[in-house]
Amino acid sequence: MALLVQKFGGTSVADVERIQAVARRIAASREHGHDLVIVVSAMGHTTDELTGLARAISADPPRREMDMLLATGEQVSIALLAMALHAQGIPAVSMTGAQVGIVTESAHGRARILEVRTDRLLRLLEEGQVVVVAGFQGTSSGAAGTPEITTLGRGGSDTSAVALAAALGADACEIYTDVPGVLTTDPRKVADAQLMQSVSCDEMLELASLGAAVLHPRAVEIARNYGVPLVVRSSWSEAPGTRLTSGAPRPIGSEGLELGRPVDGVELDEGQAVLALAHVPDRPGVAARLFEALGEAGLNVDLIVQATHQGNSNDIAFTLVESELELATTICRRLLQEFGADGAQLSAQAGMAKLSISGAGIMGRPGVAARLFDTLARLGINLRLIATSEVKVSCLVEGSQGGKALRAAATAFELADHQIRHGAGPCNPDSPAVRGVALDRDQVQVVVRGVPDRPGAAAAICRALADAGISLDAIVQSERTHGVAPELSRDMSFTLKRDDRPGAERALGPVLAGWSGAGFEEGPAIARVSAVGAGMACTAGTAARMFRSLAEAGINIELIATSEIRTSCVVAEADGIRALQAVHGAFALGGEVLNRAEGSEAPAPA
Ligand code: ASP
Ligand code: MG
Repeated sequence: MALLVQKFGGTSVADVERIQAVARRIAASREHGHDLVIVVSAMGHTTDELTGLARAISADPPRREMDMLLATGEQVSIALLAMALHAQGIPAVSMTGAQVGIVTESAHGRARILEVRTDRLLRLLEEGQVVVVAGFQGTSSGAAGTPEITTLGRGGSDTSAVALAAALGADACEIYTDVPGVLTTDPRKVADAQLMQSVSCDEMLELASLGAAVLHPRAVEIARNYGVPLVVRSSWSEAPGTRLTSGAPRPIGSEGLELGRPVDGVELDEGQAVLALAHVPDRPGVAARLFEALGEAGLNVDLIVQATHQGNSNDIAFTLVESELELATTICRRLLQEFGADGAQLSAQAGMAKLSISGAGIMGRPGVAARLFDTLARLGINLRLIATSEVKVSCLVEGSQGGKALRAAATAFELADHQIRHGAGPCNPDSPAVRGVALDRDQVQVVVRGVPDRPGAAAAICRALADAGISLDAIVQSERTHGVAPELSRDMSFTLKRDDRPGAERALGPVLAGWSGAGFEEGPAIARVSAVGAGMACTAGTAARMFRSLAEAGINIELIATSEIRTSCVVAEADGIRALQAVHGAFALGGEVLNRAEGSEAPAPA
């Protein structure tokens, strides 16, 4: 017997027949003796329809009234589902977010959950009731006024369900939906995408766009932070779906359920070296050849960055452990000759340290990376190489400054001793090197030219963008420098959402005005293909395999950015889908074409 939170999405309760089918499914779980809390979304496209009504009246309806309106959608489905359960002789009671004690911030339309007051819920469960809770909504606490109905943001019922599971210490949270689970990639673009049996919450967050299509990312963050066992599965079959793993359950702190600290770990990895190649030919196959050769020599490369520059040459830099630097340098020299790269430059530097912060909250909170860079800049620490991802920000600093950097980061993010680690984290050899592949389109690459090569420059850029609410994805600092010492400058490339581009240029204006010769340049529209897997860090040659698959498809890589469990390649937008297919195939993630039509049809009456 277990306490389960089960969530049914809009398509699963789209009409009376489906509501009855869901009720039968709940009845079956109850027969196993489980205590059940059920979370439901609004029926079918109700939320869209309500939004349409509001827009027909006003282009900019008051946010409070929007919440008032949208929250009615879930109120309909909970009442109907409770009735359907009654009709099957099951004691059930429906509850709005306010009634069940989901307390949120007061920000209408995007409120985060602060607390779930579970006493009423527990009493009802004790009485043997199935409690049917309206997803997507809560109530502001009223601490600074009157309590108000709030909503969590579109797709937020997943978040309601996982938050309830965390607060109740439920044995599992099951998300029932119209797809069989999380797939290895987007099946509309790659027909033979397969179901993942399991995926870690970190991997799911790194697969951002792919994961978000199945689960509200805030739900994954909560599951990750509190160790909630989470399952995504089909409403219409008994198939087990996909398990999301996240470690042992952890208590909810006093900061507010969704306001927990965005960074929950910092790590210093000493004895690192960086090898940088500048003016490498920019053509398909170069990165593949380079990293294959390193892999064949048994060298395990850690971070890789590459950006394209004026003209037709690339800079590529990567890190690896110091003891492998000499061999890696020899190999790179040989390859530069092979490439006929006469003007290429090679620089090798040992005695570096990698500082990384990690946490579910890094995604979508651009202030986090900016805070790290600010902190290091204030100590006069220069950043040699930067790598950012959804759950991690890493930078390479002089080894002699590593300890100082670690302490400063730990203080800045208020981390406790057990959250501070020396040495690389354990890599997970049981996990596949690549578990899934995601494609992000609607991105652009921008280059900031002439960024002074001194502490604080990267921080100033990230800070200005963060203050404008703009998230960067891949950030790559060029290897080649302009000017002469001590007035050296570098270029910084990064990718961002296309819609954020004008805002980014505006936000950076004042910063660039202070640097002589600095300028903002827009690159072409691009697509980003990301391969993600927790076993990546301990599988040599993963990146090479990805680069090779792109080269074989004749696709040029504009930019490479990696983190521990993710390798992303930026390609021309027109090559995006082909690139996704190539990479998915290269890691043998495909299989039989699944029948995915199940959710779009009404369930067969059981
Ligand atoms: N009904 C809300 C929406 O459509 C919440 C949800 O379905 O998760 O966004
Ligand atoms: Mg949803």
